[in-house]
Amino acid sequence: MSSQPSEQAADSLSQPAQSLTNAGLFERGLIRIPGGVNSPVRAFRSVGGTPYFVARGQGAYVWDVEGNRFIDYVQSYGASILGHANAGVIAAIQRAAPLGTTFGAPTPGEILLAEELCSRVPAMEQVRLVSSGTEATMSAVRLARGATGRSKILKFEGNYHGHSDALLAAAGSGVAEGALDSGSTPDSAGVPTGAVADTILRPYNVVPVLDETVAVVIVEAISANMGLVLPKPEFLQGLRAECDRVGALLLFDEVITGFRVAVGGATEWSGVTPDIWCFGKIIGGGLPVGAFGSSAAVMSELAPLGPVYQAGTLSGNPLATAAGLAVLQQLDADAYLQLSDTAEQLAMGLRSAFASAGTQVVVPKVGPLVGLFFGETQPTDFASASASVALGRYPAFFQAMLSRGIAFAPGPYEVIFPSLAHSEDDLRITIEAAHEAAHEAAQEAAQEEG
Ligand SMILES: *Cc1c(COP(=O)(O)O)cnc(C)c1O
Repeated sequence: MSSQPSEQAADSLSQPAQSLTNAGLFERGLIRIPGGVNSPVRAFRSVGGTPYFVARGQGAYVWDVEGNRFIDYVQSYGASILGHANAGVIAAIQRAAPLGTTFGAPTPGEILLAEELCSRVPAMEQVRLVSSGTEATMSAVRLARGATGRSKILKFEGNYHGHSDALLAAAGSGVAEGALDSGSTPDSAGVPTGAVADTILRPYNVVPVLDETVAVVIVEAISANMGLVLPKPEFLQGLRAECDRVGALLLFDEVITGFRVAVGGATEWSGVTPDIWCFGKIIGGGLPVGAFGSSAAVMSELAPLGPVYQAGTLSGNPLATAAGLAVLQQLDADAYLQLSDTAEQLAMGLRSAFASAGTQVVVPKVGPLVGLFFGETQPTDFASASASVALGRYPAFFQAMLSRGIAFAPGPYEVIFPSLAHSEDDLRITIEAAHEAAHEAAQEAAQEEG
């Protein structure tokens, strides 16, 4: 593969002239970047220790600046479904870059990506491209309010929809690690109560009773930001029926599930069709992209056609659309089978590792997504997911895996993201490490108790 860096060139990347260390970089980072990181979960606060700084990635692996290799199950929180530095994605970016990186005029790649997204989710007639998942959900909520003329939105505890004000309430993921209140209060300082006054919070997996003030119900059709929590079979159907009863719109936030759990995402997986979709992560091939879509009728409410304003200088960026298309081209039916098979092997391996260490866990698996909960029962909502996290067992396992060269996410509410690049060998090594790590973590827990 000519577009891959040679081993030598790559080594010079990971070992620059003045030799860098993880600790040294973090120290410098702490001076110029709050907490040393540009997204909170990366700071390792909930698992202890300091982050490794990535020098490069290739396929299933990342190398830190000290030359340590990790089998990576973070994969940019799922944004890299093909693995790192995929040859097709690199080639697409290399073709696009010399042509210019942003224009403020439409480009062909935007049309191609929009067509590709809509063809995979047949009920979605139109999309608008943005630059992050946060932007997608924020804009989609505004669209829903504009289209219905209603103010209230309903979200579920433990579902994460990015960090816009109105959606920062009981938001799971990195927000949950701060052990913040759930309720109708904001999760973050700087979000006035007014900003979430129209945000109704309800427990996941219980169909709420709505009334005609509700514009939209936003939901992670498969929850992947409070660990992996599946919808009960009747939950999504119930939401669909209840939204229809009162004329509210149903929004699937598929920033994680989209084009991942099936060709048509959670919509295909569940058989329930929402009114609005949000996407992100994998559709940018590692570059910043998001998208939201709906019927042509609803989308016609958006500027320049309608009164709902939404815009973006870098929206539909040509590098990002090229990279996203290169990803989707490789996500055919075979790819989904392979991803699901990889996830199944990993899930089974983790179960046997913890069983042999005498530790009770549940390891849910949907498509390529794998979850890990300590305790006896699979959580069904944020309360039960938090109770599992409160057992405090994740950090020791995380550290034991990291020291063996296996990188899981540095937070207990994240899911595990195997990619298409993870090989049988990678899985075998991961599972062997998990056996040792599970024993080590169990011993630590026993010592703490005893
Ligand atoms: C990651 C995520 C978002 C936010 O996307 P960003 O690109 O990080 O802004 C929104 N919704 C879900 C379900 C996510 O997992």
